[in-house]
Amino acid sequence: MQLENYRSPWMDSDLDAFRDSIRRFVREQLMPHEDKWREQHRSDRSAWLAAGEMGMILPDMPSEYGGADGTPAHYAVTLEELTYAGVTSLGLGISHIVGHYILDSGTEEQKLKWLPKIASGECITSIAMTEPGTGSDLQGVRTRAVKKGDKYVISGSKTFITNGQISDIVVVIAKTDLEAKGSRGISLFIVDTKTAGFQRGKCLDKVGLPGQDTSEMFFEECEVSADCLIGGVEGQGFIQLMQQLPYERAQIGIGAAAQMERALALTVEYTKERKAFGKAIIDFQNTRFQLAEIKATVTASRTFADLIVQRWVDGTLDTTLASMGKFWLTDRQGEVVDRCLQFFGGFGYMNEYPIARMFSDSRVARIYGGANEIQREVVGRSL
Ligand SMILES: Cc1cc2nc3c(=O)[nH]c(=O)nc-3n(C[C@H](O)[C@H](O)[C@H](O)COP(=O)(O)OP(=O)(O)OC[C@H]3O[C@@H](n4cnc5c(N)ncnc54)[C@H](O)[C@@H]3O)c2cc1C
Repeated sequence: MQLENYRSPWMDSDLDAFRDSIRRFVREQLMPHEDKWREQHRSDRSAWLAAGEMGMILPDMPSEYGGADGTPAHYAVTLEELTYAGVTSLGLGISHIVGHYILDSGTEEQKLKWLPKIASGECITSIAMTEPGTGSDLQGVRTRAVKKGDKYVISGSKTFITNGQISDIVVVIAKTDLEAKGSRGISLFIVDTKTAGFQRGKCLDKVGLPGQDTSEMFFEECEVSADCLIGGVEGQGFIQLMQQLPYERAQIGIGAAAQMERALALTVEYTKERKAFGKAIIDFQNTRFQLAEIKATVTASRTFADLIVQRWVDGTLDTTLASMGKFWLTDRQGEVVDRCLQFFGGFGYMNEYPIARMFSDSRVARIYGGANEIQREVVGRSL
């Protein structure tokens, strides 16, 4: 599904071998379950364990914490291979982000307690930032965590939480200081979903990504020990979030580029096979011209995504580049997938066709991880 005659400059022979093994695994062990996951609105725990064994969840984590000592390029490879295979139901990306919150901001005890289990797939995670009343404006969260002796009591509700029905732990963003202005009173907590007072709400009915269990969550006087506070110091939550957001955005952009490659490849194949008025659809000049434009967009997107991966590997990925990639690549994804779908005619509207799934699954990429308008704001500040 990768672009023909193109090799990402960050690939090397180690990554080629890694890609081969991940590609085989994804096609043999995950792809066959995707239809079932979409029907049951969640992935199976056995797939998480298998992905953990393959080293796909935290490939770029030090081995002392259960990772595979790789780089973000290894993670980019796993993201791309899942996308090329059309496996969208397994929310591994969330565990990748949670793993890095804990690695970068957690105490040593938190790292040793959670990271090996996240890497192995034994512990499925979710991140609960968004609330019914606030999403883009995270400073407006109303969930609060009140200190009571050596405990915190968390109260509030969250919504749109990926892995909401299956997660074992949730990273919750809450206010520890109700008086503090802006972001200063915000802290992050690791909440075990077995804790009394934690409740899962509805699994939400969505436009796309039906295999992801996007859900509501409720915290009703949910009492957790003080060592659940990430990093052990109150008021650091917003900074901890901001440090990781570029990587979350990078991952959405990288996924968008890979999905555009897949859409183009499938469309070229289909238009060569499908006939109308006595010739293949690709033999109409309109098709060739449009696919030529799409190919140029996909190539530009691929090189942009490659720059993001390279910067991530080098440790120089900044907020501006990550936000630029997020909005630009997902905007292009929306256009490319929509244009490609048109060539499939009525079949393009049938969910059994991958292009139809890409169309509905990709719409959210312009909304989550920070709406694309917010990304433009972030980039605007750099001018
Ligand atoms: C499938 C799915 C999975 C998700 N997974 C998670 C998850 O795991 N964890 C989690 O915490 N959240 C998750 N979310 C929530 C997601 O991150 C939010 O929906 C997103 O950040 C937008 O917040 P909102 O929905 O409250 O929209 P709002 O903040 O109400 O914004 C609505 C719209 O207003 C416009 N807008 C808002 N602010 C500005 C501005 N400053 N300038 C210009 N325009 C603006 C934008 O067009 C925006 O799309 C998920 C959402 C979906 C749909």
